Amino acid sequence: MTLRLGCIADDFTGATDLANNLVRAGMRVVQTLGVPADDVVMEDADAVVIALKSRTAPVQEAVDASLAACVWLQAQGASMVYFKVCSTFDSTPRGNIGPVAEALAEALHALWVPVTPAFPENGRTVYMGHLFVQQQLLSDSSMRQHPLTPMTDASLVRVLAAQCHARGVGLIDWPTVQGGAPAVVAAAQRALAQQQSLLVVDSIGPRDLGVLAQAVVEQALPLVVAGSGLGAELPAAMGFTHSRHRPTWPSTSGRSAIISGSCSAATNAQVTAFIASGGEAYAIDALQLAQGLDLAQQAMDWALPRLDRSPVLVYATTEPHTVRAVQAQLGVEQAGALVEQILATVACKLVAAGVQRLVVAGGETSGACVQALNMQRLRVGAQIDPGVPWCQDADSGLWIALKSGNFGAVDFFQKALSAQASGELA
Ligand code: ADP
Repeated sequence: MTLRLGCIADDFTGATDLANNLVRAGMRVVQTLGVPADDVVMEDADAVVIALKSRTAPVQEAVDASLAACVWLQAQGASMVYFKVCSTFDSTPRGNIGPVAEALAEALHALWVPVTPAFPENGRTVYMGHLFVQQQLLSDSSMRQHPLTPMTDASLVRVLAAQCHARGVGLIDWPTVQGGAPAVVAAAQRALAQQQSLLVVDSIGPRDLGVLAQAVVEQALPLVVAGSGLGAELPAAMGFTHSRHRPTWPSTSGRSAIISGSCSAATNAQVTAFIASGGEAYAIDALQLAQGLDLAQQAMDWALPRLDRSPVLVYATTEPHTVRAVQAQLGVEQAGALVEQILATVACKLVAAGVQRLVVAGGETSGACVQALNMQRLRVGAQIDPGVPWCQDADSGLWIALKSGNFGAVDFFQKALSAQASGELA
């Protein structure tokens, strides 16, 4: 069968987040971890979301991986490509959103490309080209202290323009979007006349994204660059209706664990709440990393006797000042990679020890874990909180929830591991 939509996500939690929205809007979705082999055929899928780990990779690596994903999706018949970026536009002055968007636009011969990280349901809105996280400008939010991609400028036009070399960046503002799809298309034509073809589109509510989705489908645009929010609206514009299938969730029996490598404000609060509720938790002290201790084994020695009693949380999550101290000692990238490696090793050991439900917090951390666990394809199941569904590995049957750092309610971990008992998730 022919794919209607081909998606390329720049990290693993982002891929799941998008897949979740597409499923809720009526599409059958398969999420692959990395670019599938040429001979893999996706049956019964309206959309495939290819999860890459390219958000903080070297620019050329991110571009090459994204182009390879694009080629595979085109070979499967996808006529529209959705480059999924973070709803907080996580990137650095080098990229990777701009360079990847430019390369995909070139490959797909896109005349103009709408760009919007807006996800109003999760408090991410764009107004006059400025990104808000709940009530704060991006640059005033906790994202300004992110370990790998600190976001210190809320102007998406400025941030994107600094990353781009081939295409001009412009804005389709909110008053224009109020004019509906024809007004959006007319604004794009005007921008094109000024050599601007990567166009940030304002959106402060689902209706705005609906307008954009309509314009995208009517114009048969080959490429969109967006957070997962547009994914909630695009299927309807393409003629899909809400799914009649009841999404699935794991049973409560068996061992379960949480791995947390996100240092985002929301995850810090979730870790604190889990511990305060009496949850078993083990902190990885990243400052000990440089001493060459086997921290993964230490964590397992702690976890093994507890696994039969309750879920265990193994976390490197910590406050920004501690992250800075670790980074000063090890270097930013080295610190991130080392912590990810330890947590991924713990994840593998926990699964080998019989864990059947695994929650992972942190985009990069999730990427490291699913790679280490050698997962290839995930079936997307029930939503725990907006943007975070349970997924089941198509090969091993392991249930996994991949949570982007700032997503989820404060009791997310407890909810993920207990709500399914009451069958409340839908
Ligand atoms: P988020 O989704 O919140 O952005 P990520 O997992 O993508 O979370 O990024 C967090 C990064 O911070 C990872 O690279 C992780 O390894 C790193 N990290 C986690 N804990 C620490 C720590 N204690 N010190 C330094 N870096 C850390």
